[in-house]
Amino acid sequence: GKTPHQQIGLTRAAMPRPKKQLFSVMIKCLRGNGNIHCREPKNLYTKTGYIALPKLFVTLNNRSMRPFILDPLFVGIQRVHGIGPRLGKAIEELTGPCVLDLLFHWPLALIDRRSVKKIEDVENGQIATIKGRVTATMFAKYPGRPSKITLSDDTGDLSLVFFKNPGGYLEKNFPINKYVAVSGRIEIYQGLPQMPHPDKIVAAEQIATIASIDPIYPLTAGVTNTVLMKSIRSVLDKVPALPEWLDPHFIKQEKFPDWQTALKSVHMIESADALSPQYPARRRLAYDEVLAHQLALAMTRQQQKAKPGAPVIADGKLKEKALKALPFELTQGQKDVLADIESDLHQPYQMCRLLQGDVGSGKTVLAFLAAIHVISAGKQAAIMAPTEILARQHLASLQHYADKVGIKIALLTAREKSKARQTILDDLASGKIDLLIGTHALIQDPVKFKDLGLAVIDEQHRFGVSQRIALSEKGNSVNVLVMTATPIPRTLTMTAYGDMESSLLREKPPGRKPIDTRVLPHDRIPEIVDGLKRKIQNGDRIYWVCPLVEESEFIDLSAAEDRHAALLQYFPGRVGLVHGRLKGAEKDAVMEQFINGDIDILVATTVIEVGVNVPEATVMIIEHSERFGLSQLHQLRGRVGRGEKAGSCLLLYQAPLGKIAKQRLETMRNTEDGFEIAETDLSLRGPGDILGTKQSGDLDFRLASLEAHQDLLVAAHQEAKLILAKDPALTSERGKSLRLLLYLFERDQVDKFLGAG
Ligand code: ADP
Ligand code: MG
Repeated sequence: GKTPHQQIGLTRAAMPRPKKQLFSVMIKCLRGNGNIHCREPKNLYTKTGYIALPKLFVTLNNRSMRPFILDPLFVGIQRVHGIGPRLGKAIEELTGPCVLDLLFHWPLALIDRRSVKKIEDVENGQIATIKGRVTATMFAKYPGRPSKITLSDDTGDLSLVFFKNPGGYLEKNFPINKYVAVSGRIEIYQGLPQMPHPDKIVAAEQIATIASIDPIYPLTAGVTNTVLMKSIRSVLDKVPALPEWLDPHFIKQEKFPDWQTALKSVHMIESADALSPQYPARRRLAYDEVLAHQLALAMTRQQQKAKPGAPVIADGKLKEKALKALPFELTQGQKDVLADIESDLHQPYQMCRLLQGDVGSGKTVLAFLAAIHVISAGKQAAIMAPTEILARQHLASLQHYADKVGIKIALLTAREKSKARQTILDDLASGKIDLLIGTHALIQDPVKFKDLGLAVIDEQHRFGVSQRIALSEKGNSVNVLVMTATPIPRTLTMTAYGDMESSLLREKPPGRKPIDTRVLPHDRIPEIVDGLKRKIQNGDRIYWVCPLVEESEFIDLSAAEDRHAALLQYFPGRVGLVHGRLKGAEKDAVMEQFINGDIDILVATTVIEVGVNVPEATVMIIEHSERFGLSQLHQLRGRVGRGEKAGSCLLLYQAPLGKIAKQRLETMRNTEDGFEIAETDLSLRGPGDILGTKQSGDLDFRLASLEAHQDLLVAAHQEAKLILAKDPALTSERGKSLRLLLYLFERDQVDKFLGAG
């Protein structure tokens, strides 16, 4: 079971005869990964004890070390008894593929059915549980027509209304004079109470079983709450008791339940407290998750340090040339960061450094100088950027320096095709290319370096950990530098990038003028457009950003398209439009026009957000600015005022503005310090917005909340360090339990850490 995705075909002749033996083959395979792919699964269980399958295919993934005890949690949902393939498929789409995912799907709210009402007391819209006698029935004769059951108690009548009656279900369950109990939502219709499709129906003596508290889960089409609740309850019984991996003192201090109990009480809600992120069971599981994450990060770091990455020693000649080629002097901040980087490169282990620097602080040139260092030691370097535009811009700005220094630089994106692409790949493999700049294309399989010494990841928040790792695996002991312009508050840095050293570039290059920021309602747009005429006559260029509507790219686009059309009326031929759905070449063509001054106004969705540099752009107008994260606004604003002239930024909003929204936009007006903005945004809105969590693989917690569980993040960070200091390979009793924890949360990578650990 060592080869990934190995396929074994068992032919009839080769098949072990007694059923037992076959099962032991199966079980061995299942131990491998939990997947058996079988052409005709039914044939597996024949009465004779022999297997009538012509061929049994077994796929083995490289998931060989997961302890047995966890297996029930990794069973596919479709294979759970009582759920089955059809429902299982719908649930999987909602929760993820296996039982554990289902258990990590937590209720958002609850329905309290405990109040048993008399019929005269029910109110419209209320959830009620009622006991009564069936006093009249009217069964629909045609499908689609309603059936009605009248339920009476000593205070009045209630109509149960059904539009479906599968298999005469109603006739069977509601004979006249039977006492029943129902629970569901009350509607008052023409003055009379009714309950359309009760959620629960039982015989009256079983009323206690429905007068309960039900959790309400996030749902999707094809899965109702009742069905999901049942499915979750059925798998709750399969949750194994696991040996404790947390520190007993911490458990006591936090009053944490054990793992199994915690999972149960998250789902078997007894009061609204159980929905709070501070509910001990939720906190416990959140802590488990962040501890696993921190432990994984710390182990990665430990391994990186353990790898004997050769020190990269440069003689300094190329660096001298490079510094001469630059049209400016490095700022003190840049010099300090460069010193950090060079000292890392001299260490006998791999560099893993995060460089945080506000927009426009001059990170690119540092990436270049770091590259120069490894290149002068005979190695190659790569810079990976999140968008084509950015990668091209890096090439454009660095090409000139590279020529002066005499190194070979190339670009690789999805757009380099066929022959050109092959030439690049060949030159890369032979070592002719010293510095490769590109997009995600860099981490694809055919890209092979001769000797990659440095991987720079620009705008790290746009990539996940796995992409970072993929690029660094393109060579032996690759040094990694990740850069981000998204200022990240301290606690989050530690959490997200706990495995890295970090440098901060706070100072901006000299001569930058402050940006004049104003906050205005949308109804001022006509005036603003008038004002632009004067700006354009002065040779200024304008960004006009249209709102981002999360649910639909289509809406995004139509807002931008409308604005584009409207502005064209005023400025015929001088307005361009870029958005995420344009092809790379189309996007670049428009950007090019804007850079060259063939158009004066660029209407955009947020595709211009990161990194783009057009010195003549002086005005940034953002519609519906209240919808953006502050750091995103800060990024956008950072696009202007990069040249000689001072920039201005107009934050337009849709009135009326709520209190918090107002405070947020005020913050933008009051400061240009990205770190201050990030801290404010964190306190006003929470971290998801700051980091664009959806895109940030690093902070994708399922159970923990970055806002609610900051204390746990800090504790986990320290705990992880302590654990590894005492037991670096996780071999003690507790270490073994912690391995289970890692398998629960860091599923894909665990074998890798533990294998080497
Ligand atoms: P970011 O940190 O946002 O990636 P860039 O690297 O794109 O910023 O730099 C922004 C601009 O500042 C570029 O035009 C770059 O040439 C310029 N720049 C960088 N360092 C200095 C410096 N020390 N002095 C003057 N200009 C600089
Ligand atoms: Mg940049």
